[in-house]
Amino acid sequence: MALLNEYFLDLPTENLFSDVVKKINAFKIMRPNIRLTDMGIHDTDTSLPPSVVEAMHRAVADMSNHSTFSRNESEQGYEFLRDVIIKNDFNPRGIHLIPNEIFISNGVKSEIGNIGDVLRGDNTIGVMDPIYPIYIENNVISGRAGIFEGGRWSNVCYMSCNEANGFTPMPPEYPIDIVYLCSPNNPCGAAYSKGQLKKWVDYALKNNTLILFDASYEAYIQSPDIPHSIYEIRGAKKVAIELRCFSRTAGFSDLRCGYTVIPKELTIQTLDGRRVQMNALWSRRQNIRFGGVSYVTQCAAAATYSEAGKEQLRQAREYHMENARLMRRDLANLGVKVYGGEHVPYLWMKIPPNTSSWEFFEMLLYCANVICTPGSVFGPGGEGFVRLKALANRENCENAITRLKDCLK
Ligand code: PLP
Repeated sequence: MALLNEYFLDLPTENLFSDVVKKINAFKIMRPNIRLTDMGIHDTDTSLPPSVVEAMHRAVADMSNHSTFSRNESEQGYEFLRDVIIKNDFNPRGIHLIPNEIFISNGVKSEIGNIGDVLRGDNTIGVMDPIYPIYIENNVISGRAGIFEGGRWSNVCYMSCNEANGFTPMPPEYPIDIVYLCSPNNPCGAAYSKGQLKKWVDYALKNNTLILFDASYEAYIQSPDIPHSIYEIRGAKKVAIELRCFSRTAGFSDLRCGYTVIPKELTIQTLDGRRVQMNALWSRRQNIRFGGVSYVTQCAAAATYSEAGKEQLRQAREYHMENARLMRRDLANLGVKVYGGEHVPYLWMKIPPNTSSWEFFEMLLYCANVICTPGSVFGPGGEGFVRLKALANRENCENAITRLKDCLK
């Protein structure tokens, strides 16, 4: 008799982002003539950078020729991509990695869940709150999250990101086995300083904690003092896995490509006290369960590191961060409290007290015809806020702020 993994039944039938889409669709049916300005959940409005597109054309030509056809012999990824990643993302920051420590993935979303395959189901977990909901949902389906009571999972330690702690929670007094950190953080936009990250690394070294460090937004960091990688902190290679993606920086949400760093120094303990090298274990797991990322996609990712690619991405980032700056300025002039927009292309906007983030979402939708994301979609700690994206064209951002002004008056 085939039996189900019943932990799946513990999940809500749909995630809260689907509820956002449903409400937008209902609005469109009721008011078909009204144009909505989307500052909500959808991705960047811009297309792929030209250097990426050119690289893909060349890669397709390679695949059509017998002598250059590529067979994707290693699911860990092509060395040409792993090399440029190390040379561009790590060496300039004084971090030395070898290609075998980089695993090309098809994005952070699947990878951060897949890592659970090699971790016991009874590890305790800690997540920043609010945060990318996927971190918790992956633990729900593997039985680590416990039961859902009063809007929270019983076995999850929610590490509050709030105004008082600058949205950067610090380690608790007690040990947690697996901790998810995201810096710069989606949705609040805060980033850990070196000193703060050092406290997390020291905590992990002391407690044998595994840190899963999501650095998907690192390219947006504006201040030279903020670490782009957790490996800028001494000792981090012993305790942390870092995940990055090309979706947020280079428009790869559809192409799907990212990478995971698992240093050789990182070991995980068995119940009887043996230490096992995570890198070797992950490599074995990938042999069994992962077919690798296509040659065309990896050529596209490598093109983001060419001189032209870097310049095109820099310009796109600057454009979106200028959107964020203008929106922050205009909202602040309206007397609205806004966070974020400094190291991520999102604004974390405080809403009036006694209004839920869903109520505010509906108010903006119907009164301003602007789509935002209700803060509580990202966890209980997101209540009291909504997120506005700056990953849009300038006209949409200006338009959204004008409509917001009229509505908030
Ligand atoms: N990490 C964070 C914090 C995100 O907000 C997102 C997407 O919104 C992702 C990862 C998704 O990355 P990918 O497209 O590589 O799956």
